[in-house]
Amino acid sequence: MLELRHLKKYFHVGNTTTKALDDVSLSFRDKEFVSILGPSGSGKTTMLNIIGGLDKYDSGDLLIKNKSTKNFKDTDWDAYRNNSVGFIFQSYNLIGHLSILDNVELGMTLSGVSSEERTQKAKDALTRVGLGEHIGKKIAQLSGGQMQRVAIARAIANDPEILLADEPTGALDSQTSVQIMNLIKEISKDRLVIMVTHDEELAKDYSDRIVRFADGKIQDDTNPYDDSNRNQQFNLKRTKMSWWTALKLSFTNLKTKKGRTLLTAFASSIGIISIAIVLGLSNGFRIQIGQTQGETLSKFPITISQVATQTSVGSSITKDKSDTSKSENINYVIAQQDQSEAATHANKIDSNYLDYLTKINPNDSNNISYNRATGMNLLREVNGKIQSVKFSTQSDNGSNMSQQMSAMTGMGVSVFPEQLDQSKGNFLKDNYQLVNGEYPSNPTDVVLIVDKDNKTNINALKNLGFDVSNDQKLDYNQIIGTNIKLVNNNNYYQQLPTGNFMPTQDLTTAYNNSQNREVKVVGILKSNENSRTTALAPGIAYSDKLAQEIIQDNANSEIVKAQKESDNNVLTGQPITSDMAKTQTLAFLGGNDIPTSILIYTDNFKNKENVLTYLNRYNEGKSDEDKIIYTDMAGTVSSLTGGLMDGITYVLVAFAGISLVTSMIMIGILTYTSVIERTKEIGVLKALGARKSDITHVFDAETFILGLGSGVLGVGIGYLALFPINALLYQITNMENVANLNPVHAIILIIISTALTMLGGHIPSKMASKKDASTALRSE
Ligand code: ADP
Ligand code: MG
Repeated sequence: MLELRHLKKYFHVGNTTTKALDDVSLSFRDKEFVSILGPSGSGKTTMLNIIGGLDKYDSGDLLIKNKSTKNFKDTDWDAYRNNSVGFIFQSYNLIGHLSILDNVELGMTLSGVSSEERTQKAKDALTRVGLGEHIGKKIAQLSGGQMQRVAIARAIANDPEILLADEPTGALDSQTSVQIMNLIKEISKDRLVIMVTHDEELAKDYSDRIVRFADGKIQDDTNPYDDSNRNQQFNLKRTKMSWWTALKLSFTNLKTKKGRTLLTAFASSIGIISIAIVLGLSNGFRIQIGQTQGETLSKFPITISQVATQTSVGSSITKDKSDTSKSENINYVIAQQDQSEAATHANKIDSNYLDYLTKINPNDSNNISYNRATGMNLLREVNGKIQSVKFSTQSDNGSNMSQQMSAMTGMGVSVFPEQLDQSKGNFLKDNYQLVNGEYPSNPTDVVLIVDKDNKTNINALKNLGFDVSNDQKLDYNQIIGTNIKLVNNNNYYQQLPTGNFMPTQDLTTAYNNSQNREVKVVGILKSNENSRTTALAPGIAYSDKLAQEIIQDNANSEIVKAQKESDNNVLTGQPITSDMAKTQTLAFLGGNDIPTSILIYTDNFKNKENVLTYLNRYNEGKSDEDKIIYTDMAGTVSSLTGGLMDGITYVLVAFAGISLVTSMIMIGILTYTSVIERTKEIGVLKALGARKSDITHVFDAETFILGLGSGVLGVGIGYLALFPINALLYQITNMENVANLNPVHAIILIIISTALTMLGGHIPSKMASKKDASTALRSE
């Protein structure tokens, strides 16, 4: 069965060399009970370990069924231990955190025996060693003799051909020893048993053959044998531990030290907790900013004005960074445009561009409002007296402010957007609810916009001729139905002998002219509860169609014709100095239908991007002068805040990351401790045929469990921590549920935690796998 040929094994420690095996030659039969006797330190254990493949010889050869093991690889030895050898040790070497049954099954899990067969074989073996009734007990509840029986059951469960026993009764009393010896004797009937012992009596009473050892040499053999002439077959079945076994081993091990495991998991989850909170906060703020941005979008539409200001802060800063080093040897000055002037761009809005705008995809923006400089000649009868009224506080000299400005400064007048596509809803009906009256249906229908408390701009009312003081209440019916006459230029302006024009003094005649259009306040509207749109400022709002009709009416009026020819303002007589001023004056008189500003409303960021892309396309291939520049205030604001948030998030995550690395090191230390603690277990696993990689798997599995555990714990605590944080933020900012951890982030964090801890524990795992099995088993 086995043949040792001139085996040598020397140990070198410092300068001394111990000849543990010094030219040992010995053969064993297939079935016999051999006792190895000899004083302590004579090399008995060393020989047993070499026979069992736990230790490697220096020279000579070990033949297993006539097959040399000189060229055995690690995996061959692993398979040999697992298939052919059973070990019994003096100190039992059971794995305390596993059940009795699991201990016995362990070797078979490595050789891939099915779970039912494994359990059956384990139960049979336990019955055979007389422990059938104790299967349910824990290892720690067993006596020494019982533990040794479990060890024997483990050794014979898979029916190995060789049983190696190293002083199996060394720790037992004499009565128990006899029982164990009987058991081993019985087992030796169908296999080779090699037993190392101190006990001469037991050896003589039970074994078939006694080999005496001293100083690594054989002194005496009572029944020598020659194995070399026999024909024998030797096959090895490779072993492999499943991940499941590795996980189970590690899990039961961790279970025995719950307190420490939990504490470690918690400590190492702190990194995850802090990252979870940081991500939750930044995610929350981002959502909040997104919502605010949505609101801002409607407050600050894309604006195209006749005069655009390029508000690129960056470029003006870089301009300042001019090269100063050259200024020493120069003798000239440079004429330069003022920066704010340089940043001003005259947009040549023309009918082409207006056409282009009408082709914006209605899905991206269905609402565009046009502000025109057109003045309106409005007359109203108040208490029997005709008086001049107006919608806005617009000054009468022809200058105009954009609607955006009026919305912000409370001028009390707005133009509601035109629908590009009527089928896609109605701006007023979708965003404003009726307080009283009805929605406008004609161009001459105007509405009064109030805020959520029914307040409106006092100037809007005063301009319409209402005599109101601050906080005064007006009945709905005082306002609804208010009739205003819109007089055309020819009926409103009189030419003076000087050639200049002035508004008619006879308001009553003008008021009663049959050519007048009749403008009517038809409804009072307020913003919908859930509408984010506050495009219309409290005050009067009218349709752009009204302005267009006025322009149509007045395009060929006397005053417009006169103004077109004159270089002076025909109303004031003042000279007009620039083309721009002339255009504006004409526009005020209705002689020009180009809007002063255009506001394009979008619902969300994506639509806005599309519209901006569309607007940019217009400028492609155009000279700088002909380009139309728009202003996107919301974009500027949100890109600023977005960048800021990103910066803050990165810094915080970096800090939290440091604690994550700390956690990783902690897990490394813990695994290292675990490796030290489980040295014996590593030895046992190796004795049972576990490969190096199996050992690595066991410890990787442990760090996997720890990493996963601390990840889940960290994310869980992170989620919980967000509740008080949100409560606090609500107190401070009045924003509800700001912090909000994205589930995707949570899962990624758990994965990161698992991966990092496995990384931290992998080095100790590798160390564990390299541990020498015989040394591992010798350690106490
Ligand atoms: P026995 O089992 O007969 O008591 P061992 O085989 O354990 O003896 O040891 C034989 C000799 O080899 C002893 O002198 C022991 O100190 C030495 N020895 C065993 N293992 C090692 C080792 N790993 N390193 C150094 N010396 C060792
Ligand atoms: Mg020994």
